Amino acid sequence: MTLALDHRLPPRTGWATVVPRGQRLRILEVDGGQIGDFVVFNADDLRERFDQGRTKANQGRILITKGHVLYSKSNNVMMTITEDTYGIHDLQYGMCSRWIFTSGGYRGFAGGFQPGGGQGLPEFGCWEILTEALRPWDIPPEDIPSPLNVFQTMHIDVETGALGILPGRSRPGDYIELRAEMNCLCALSA
Ligand SMILES: [Zn+2]
Repeated sequence: MTLALDHRLPPRTGWATVVPRGQRLRILEVDGGQIGDFVVFNADDLRERFDQGRTKANQGRILITKGHVLYSKSNNVMMTITEDTYGIHDLQYGMCSRWIFTSGGYRGFAGGFQPGGGQGLPEFGCWEILTEALRPWDIPPEDIPSPLNVFQTMHIDVETGALGILPGRSRPGDYIELRAEMNCLCALSA
């Protein structure tokens, strides 16, 4: 394999690019403990996009790893996970947004949340970050789907239904690699 593009994503920023069919995207953990919100669109028809619910229902599971795929609402396979050193990536949590940090509502960060080494809560979330990253493609914020939360581990209480985000446990060098099964517009927040 040859490297077509290498991009480093600083914390609390986003990035988007088209991954042509057959090419692979590797999301590599640099510092450890980071979480990325990852969304995919059909680059040839931006109305078709990744679907959290289809991806779970069509494979009968709430977590996906190597060998599993990302589905669109039209039940088309958008990407296949070809490598994964982390093992589990959340498909429950929708996407953090300004609301979650400023409304005083549910935060869902089990064990507390210390972004940026305890500098307090951020003023915006992945929704706002991805809105910016996808602006060149004129994708309205409302059309950004719920993501695959890479390197995110959730605590799920199956008795009560309670859901909490655990502190990131990925280590530097962890990665997930996905092969595009169609021309994919991929966007990632850190
Ligand atoms: Zn987020």
